[in-house]
Amino acid sequence: MRFLVVGSGFAGAVLARELADHTDHCIDVVEARDHIGGNCHTHREQETGITVHTYGAHIFHTSDLNVWNYLQRFTEMMPFINRPKASIDKGIFSLPVNLHTINQYFGKKFSPSEARQFVDTIRRHDIKEPRNFEEQALHFMGEELYRAFFHGYTKKHWGCEPQQIPASVLKRLPLRFNYNDNYYASIYQGIPRDGYTAIFERLLDHPRISLSLNHRWQPSDGQAYDHVFYSGPLDGFFGHRRGRLGYRTVFWERQIETGDALGHPGINYPSLDVGFTRRREHKHYEYWKQHEKTIVFTEYSKETGSKDEPYYPKRLAADKALMHGYLGDCLQTDRTSFLGRLGLYKYMDMHQVIAESLSLAREFIAALASGQPRPIFPE
Ligand code: UDP
Repeated sequence: MRFLVVGSGFAGAVLARELADHTDHCIDVVEARDHIGGNCHTHREQETGITVHTYGAHIFHTSDLNVWNYLQRFTEMMPFINRPKASIDKGIFSLPVNLHTINQYFGKKFSPSEARQFVDTIRRHDIKEPRNFEEQALHFMGEELYRAFFHGYTKKHWGCEPQQIPASVLKRLPLRFNYNDNYYASIYQGIPRDGYTAIFERLLDHPRISLSLNHRWQPSDGQAYDHVFYSGPLDGFFGHRRGRLGYRTVFWERQIETGDALGHPGINYPSLDVGFTRRREHKHYEYWKQHEKTIVFTEYSKETGSKDEPYYPKRLAADKALMHGYLGDCLQTDRTSFLGRLGLYKYMDMHQVIAESLSLAREFIAALASGQPRPIFPE
């Protein structure tokens, strides 16, 4: 049998490797760009020698030991805890919003229980079941903290009113009543020592995997294969026949300096007074190396045009209606499985994508062993 994997990000590369490791079949991977790794791709910047996360900083985190161990078959992970800061008119604050942020912002010395009681007096109790990002934030933390740290950033990042964004997006971030400023609640976190691209090289380095770069998938590609695993944009697979799903993309201004520009890997800018959302100084993600120069990426967000790379599935109400139509179409396809952030139009992190590909591969291989290969459709 012959399988086609469309896309060489984590979704496609892990799936391809699992099929290669656990079956005797050949797998062709096609990638539209001129490099592997999707938006997790990293490259060594010529002028500075710094490993740059080409499509924005990626900090790996998971509480799934199986995923963590799997990744370490392909790389050495260096310890890294994500502790971004927020720059607002009142000063520089700690993120995610924690006891330090609350005390600094309100000029207090609250203990954890005092802070909890205080936030309980300012949060919106009348919002019983938050229906969107803004209501969720007001319910959790009240107007002032929401305006200071979330409202402007969210408007800039998503390009719409926060009332239009699902509440689940805010739930990605904790609100803490202690001094824990670890952005993620995951047990395991880190950055690959050799960059992410090396992981994808090793994942795809198998005698039964062949890779074609600069190959944009077309519907006719699937004909020669027994099964297609598609991790490109969901609406693209169907030729946008129901309409285009909304994706946000990001772009950067890059600036090279000497020494230390920000003094930190990442600073967010929630204020609407500036057009950008965040700045990332990539050499701090590679703290185990010495670099004389530094490179800072100032990040902006915009709607995805036909030539831009999609990053974030917007999932507004209209998108969700379209998405359900397309997901229904997926169920009707023969010999095709859909996966990944773009393939399923789901806001997933790297570890979730890897876990999903591992389980999809497991299910498909089991179906194959029973003599009935069939499309697998992750929840
Ligand atoms: N967010 C915010 N202020 C911040 C950081 C995040 O308002 O300083 C909001 C914003 O809407 C963002 C969401 O929280 O899209 C999720 O943030 P996360 O850091 O998880 O986004 P990602 O790392 O995927 O870009």
